[in-house]
Amino acid sequence: MRVAAIVVAAGRGSRAGSGPPKQLRPLGGEPVLRRSLRLFAAHDAVTAVQAVIDPAFAAAFRDAGAGLPKLLAPAAGGDTRQQSVRAGLEAVERERPDLVLIHDAARPLASPALVGRAIAAAEKDGAAVPALAVADTIKRVDEAGLVAETLDRAALRSIQTPQAFAFAPILAAHRRAAEAGRDDFPDDAALAEWAGIKVATFAGEAGNIKLTTADDFLRAQAIDAQALGDVRTGSGFDVHAFGPGDHVMLGGVRIAHDRALLGHSDADVLLHALTDAVLGAAAEGDIGRHFPPSDPAWRGASSDRFLAHAVALVAARGGRIAHLDATLLAEAPKIGPHAAAIRGSIARIAGIEDGRVSIKATTTERLGFVGRGEGIAAMATATVRLPWSAP
Ligand code: MG
Repeated sequence: MRVAAIVVAAGRGSRAGSGPPKQLRPLGGEPVLRRSLRLFAAHDAVTAVQAVIDPAFAAAFRDAGAGLPKLLAPAAGGDTRQQSVRAGLEAVERERPDLVLIHDAARPLASPALVGRAIAAAEKDGAAVPALAVADTIKRVDEAGLVAETLDRAALRSIQTPQAFAFAPILAAHRRAAEAGRDDFPDDAALAEWAGIKVATFAGEAGNIKLTTADDFLRAQAIDAQALGDVRTGSGFDVHAFGPGDHVMLGGVRIAHDRALLGHSDADVLLHALTDAVLGAAAEGDIGRHFPPSDPAWRGASSDRFLAHAVALVAARGGRIAHLDATLLAEAPKIGPHAAAIRGSIARIAGIEDGRVSIKATTTERLGFVGRGEGIAAMATATVRLPWSAP
């Protein structure tokens, strides 16, 4: 079954204060949009992710999606949310999805479990939305603010995204609504109801709040810190020997040197130690288990894919990398002039900010194999935040 996710991020939402659109503001060290895209990109059951953006912010949106798998070229949004969703549906049609999940980028805290429930519900019912019982009494008021009616709370639900639909009927419904001159439906379920599609509900999440005001961001930070409170640490260590050559790879950066490091892959000792540290924090074994040296596929491989794989395993569990710290042990080459480039490279590979990466270097006072210039060693520590539900 092919499941597409549309992440609607074209709104200019000014209620969260001045500055860039709220989808591009950071939450827990990542832009809100990246978190929403990653939710689907990292989900096993999702096959394609279609963002709908405001082209005025195309460069920032491109950065927010950098390195994420399954991400299609973004579609340009329209004047209303409904037009933006339709642009996403039209763009993703060539992927021939069976189901589509439609999600507001401003809800970055939705969990992988909620995505799973959305897919299961759409498979069963054809159209389904996440719903929460309403705790407050809800009243309808007139224009003067006087209470006109008290509604029966038992029959009311507050509705979230992702909303999930069989693809062909919701695309047809959107096209019909556009032809009928209707472009003001508040959500896709309302449009589906108008088109005569029965919409089922499934359990939403209290933490899946929509970021609208500055206060919502503060609340989201608190929810986020609590949800990802299972903090784990992993360590990694690696050594590669020198052989003939003219450069070494350290942290994904090519550094000219009068010798090279020997290894099955590109022998990037620093990325190997960091990969093991991240795998260790996730209790996922070691680099040799994921990328056996006996497998010819990894001969000469660029080691950034090893670290990216470990980071993806963490993301697939709903977690993220809080910090990476590493020490290189080498007599030569001198690391200092390259430290900033190495740090930036690692941050890019891991999909985190530079400020969450620390690179240090030391000699070993001419003692041992490092001191004799026979090779380079690297030690690394990864701090990973996982959701409390993680195994
Ligand atoms: Mg190695």
